[in-house]
Amino acid sequence: MQNPIIFWFRQDLRAYDLPGLAKALNSGQPVIPCYIYDPEAAGDWAPGGASRWWLHHSLMSLASDLEALGAQLCLRSGHTQTELQALCEETSASAIYCSRQLEPWATAQEQALHDHFNAADITFKRYPGSLLFEPEAIRTGGGTPFKVFSPFWRACLAQPEPAQPLALPEGTWHSAANSLELDTLALLPTKPDWAKGWHELWSPGSDGARQRLGVFLDEALYNYGEGRNLPAHNFTSRLSPHIQFGEISPREIWHAAKASEAAGADSGEVRKFLSELGWREFSHHLLAMDPHIPEQPFKPNFANFPWLGNAEHLLAWQRGQTGYPLVDAGMRELWQTGYMHNRVRMITASFLTKHLLIHWRSGEDWFWDTLCDASLATNSCSWQWVAGSGADAAPYFRIFNPTAQGKKFDTEGDYIRKWVPELAGLPKKYIQEPWTAPADVLESAEVRLGENYPEPIVDHAAARQGALDAYAAIKAS
Ligand code: FAD
Repeated sequence: MQNPIIFWFRQDLRAYDLPGLAKALNSGQPVIPCYIYDPEAAGDWAPGGASRWWLHHSLMSLASDLEALGAQLCLRSGHTQTELQALCEETSASAIYCSRQLEPWATAQEQALHDHFNAADITFKRYPGSLLFEPEAIRTGGGTPFKVFSPFWRACLAQPEPAQPLALPEGTWHSAANSLELDTLALLPTKPDWAKGWHELWSPGSDGARQRLGVFLDEALYNYGEGRNLPAHNFTSRLSPHIQFGEISPREIWHAAKASEAAGADSGEVRKFLSELGWREFSHHLLAMDPHIPEQPFKPNFANFPWLGNAEHLLAWQRGQTGYPLVDAGMRELWQTGYMHNRVRMITASFLTKHLLIHWRSGEDWFWDTLCDASLATNSCSWQWVAGSGADAAPYFRIFNPTAQGKKFDTEGDYIRKWVPELAGLPKKYIQEPWTAPADVLESAEVRLGENYPEPIVDHAAARQGALDAYAAIKAS
């Protein structure tokens, strides 16, 4: 028998359209599919609670997809290099293939593994698969990475179109002995099980991803451009956790959207949707260019920003108890579902960094733990974008007014009624700012400000001025 090749799954938990896996299967050598749970390798960026929940179910789904192909996923836990080395010795594998990742810890890990295994005469190869365009392919005329989204995306669109997804691989498989039971990784919450109802919300795995993509293209794409701003409605794809775990490839999404366009879907809506995938690409390219983005401001002058860091305010924000209904609705949606609508992510992040003057890193950490789609590249770039310190960031002086945003994008107050039920009885005139409601309106809606719903923890106008003063201080420094 030929020596097997290990295919090491990482953030690419799918069996199809995976260039490295296809290459391994096409080699004629038997392939050992393997996943190693090694949270320590990621340092501060080990998966948070919501991501661990997703990972558990995604691995279960991958194992079952592989089983249908006649393969057995070998599950291990521990130091990646040690586990891969042991697997090579147990199976006489002569090569390890994997998909490339761009997180700084992951690229360092790839380099270390490459050096270690090549010195031991074991081939170590990494392949693309998680992006539409590899960072090295997209450069300015001067050969440098882009720092502004629009020219970046134009340069991407000027490239040859991403290749069609690869068909299901054929080839032979090899089963490794000694695979762990999934439950031994202890990825699921127990006491308390805060993810109890999540099965009704999410279907982790490639089948769930494809199903969600189909529903989005059939039922929501037609109104994506406008509808994507309305948090009470389902006009976005909610594919983000599936994409983050690699259960579906971005190029499959790309070609499915293009096929919808060919079948008559509005080109403008398709363009808008693909440009959001473009923002995902942009954040990965930025992280590849500047590995410090998750920890340090992209614009160096923000290093001196006079953050306040009020712990009570941070807790109120995390718990959805700020007294600003739209902010609270978003934070509760996040806690209860592992997801928050994009428009509301921007509003809650702006509120934390500008109204409360709390460092974007505190928000980044909270999102990291609570989002099912937590992505080091997108989360850190988005936080810096909102805070004003990022590449191509929103100008600092653009401070979202949470009540005005609510009136514009949650006109009827339905999103607030869903996530902040104690305000559900308020008429739409007051639901965005209950503190302006007359006493009899509050009473008939059974809202008791300061008792069953908080007074605003900061005054909008004063907080806005405080943020502008803080910004003026760093501009002058
Ligand atoms: P759709 O509107 O259907 O978009 C399709 C896909 O495009 C998404 O699944 C996602 O992969 C990508 N995308 C959409 N919007 C953005 C964006 N603004 N930036 C980058 N990619 C985008 N997204 C994450 O995937 N992980 C994160 O950790 C994350 N953290 C964020 C933190 C903050 C403070 C903010 C403001 C945004 C963050 N986003 C993050 C981006 C965005 O909110 C989500 O990608 C989006 O809400 C996911 O919902 P969807 O799949 O329905 O998106």
